[in-house]
Amino acid sequence: MEAREGLLYEHEECIRRINRIAYFSMEICVDSQIPTYSGGLGILAGDTIRSSADLGVPLMAITLLYKKGYLRQKFNEQGYQQELPEEWNPEEVLTQLPTRIQVEIEGRKVTVQCWLYMVKGIEGQTVPVYFLDTDLPDNSDFDRSLSYYLYGGDERYRLAQEIILGIGGVRMLRKLGYKDILRYHLNEGHASLLTLELLSEYNNAGKNNWDVEQVKNRCVFTTHTPVSAGMDQFPYPLVEQVLGNIIPFDLLKGLAGEEKLNMTQLALNLSHYINGVAKKHGLVSCEMFPGYHIDSITNGVHSVTWVGKYFAELYDRYIPGWKLDPFSLRYALNIPEEEIWNAHQMAKEKLIGYIKKSSDLKFEKDVLTIGFARRATAYKRADLIFYDLNHLIDIASRKGKLQLVFAGKAHPKDQPGKELVEKVIHISRQLLLADNIKIVYLENYNMELAKILTTGVDLWLNTPRKPQEASGTSGMKAAHNGIPSFSILDGWWVEGCIEGITGWSIGSAANLESIEAEEADSLYKKLEAEIMPAYYNQKERWLNIMRHCVAVNASFFNTQRMVLQYVSNAYL
Ligand SMILES: *Cc1c(COP(=O)(O)O)cnc(C)c1O
Repeated sequence: MEAREGLLYEHEECIRRINRIAYFSMEICVDSQIPTYSGGLGILAGDTIRSSADLGVPLMAITLLYKKGYLRQKFNEQGYQQELPEEWNPEEVLTQLPTRIQVEIEGRKVTVQCWLYMVKGIEGQTVPVYFLDTDLPDNSDFDRSLSYYLYGGDERYRLAQEIILGIGGVRMLRKLGYKDILRYHLNEGHASLLTLELLSEYNNAGKNNWDVEQVKNRCVFTTHTPVSAGMDQFPYPLVEQVLGNIIPFDLLKGLAGEEKLNMTQLALNLSHYINGVAKKHGLVSCEMFPGYHIDSITNGVHSVTWVGKYFAELYDRYIPGWKLDPFSLRYALNIPEEEIWNAHQMAKEKLIGYIKKSSDLKFEKDVLTIGFARRATAYKRADLIFYDLNHLIDIASRKGKLQLVFAGKAHPKDQPGKELVEKVIHISRQLLLADNIKIVYLENYNMELAKILTTGVDLWLNTPRKPQEASGTSGMKAAHNGIPSFSILDGWWVEGCIEGITGWSIGSAANLESIEAEEADSLYKKLEAEIMPAYYNQKERWLNIMRHCVAVNASFFNTQRMVLQYVSNAYL
């Protein structure tokens, strides 16, 4: 009881602060016990919130509660993905608040409650996170089900969820007592409907005087995908049925597109500051959306969250204060090589133990181990390294053994993504008795597994099809643990790659779009001629690379730097 009162007191303090930033995101991962995320977007939101708390930025965050999470991944005998609900109990990790609001969906009044989670920063400052929830007896079964699945259901389900997030979110903040909100940050287009709620608030005088400029002045929009298929678009008849007439339709069409309600376009038209999530992605976005000024703020990861236990002990000893000041990770160049190696090998042992437990495969501690884990979807090309399987086997027989660890969930409706997972699992079974290569695909990629992988492998592989990787963040987690990346020059790696110093590039920077055969060839050549010799025969060189990953990349690709840029470029 006391803990709850303390929490609620701190919460009241947050509401009283001034110049607040309201951060809206369809998915947020604040805690590995709360499975309300599917991948990079939610992890980034969580890391943003954690760094905001560390820095004392007066931010609060709004998302939806998903009682059955995204999905729990299991493989059947054929290696085909099965999806189970991710069961969890909000009462164990969140605090239910008595505040309720209503939104209209298909003409029905839907009651929304919210749950609170307080993220605590290093020096005790807090960021409240609100999870909106419609699973209440007052609501119809359909309306209750809107709080079950992240990215589940059809267009109607998704639009209804986005009404709860955008419109319900603003109403909930008002009801909680937030009055003075300086900026609304739309983390991806899912939250765009909040702009309509703001428009109608400012029109409260009822004079049909829609103050677009005033809303624009309040909103900041971050776009996360360079692929138009990844953007939400709703046909207007559905919008009319589900959302109704929150603002006049001709005004809506002018702001959100004539053909369909395009959530990205709505956000672009109602935000005064727009950014992509890496320099390259900013430029790609400018081409996609001519006529808008689009800046870029390169993503990062929350250093304290993603540095493994053994490296954290090293940093504590050699770089005291790194947690509050991750820029100081640049001094990692002074950490003795032996100690880097020992810390890394301990993390690797933990990974090997995990693999043994979950697959019964025995990975070896002194074999070059490559990690690949991300959402399993076609453009991420988990199978590029198997482009010419015999070539890969041949390299391993001549240059030293290889171990490959894969993980990643496919969206239930992403057939090609699911087939990709199956393909990798088939190859791993085919090579079960091979002498020089071991491959494992671990089930149910999530935050915890991501940490085991990005601290325990020797090399982090990323092979997206250009130019589809907006940023990518898992390689940044690896860099925080001294692990070099081996990646296509897309997203963050355009900025992070110093060839042979922080890792290696795959393919040519000159090609704007991927040419698969060339990239596979480049991958094999570099693996054979550079990476394996460095790992197996030039230990000192390898350790120097590990130190540079931390000094050059972890010191920059962290959310502390990123949040400071949002504060100075976007919020203020
Ligand atoms: C970091 C992370 C991601 C994002 O990885 P990318 O490199 O951006 O693809 C996805 N899922 C989980 C569980 C993560 O921890």
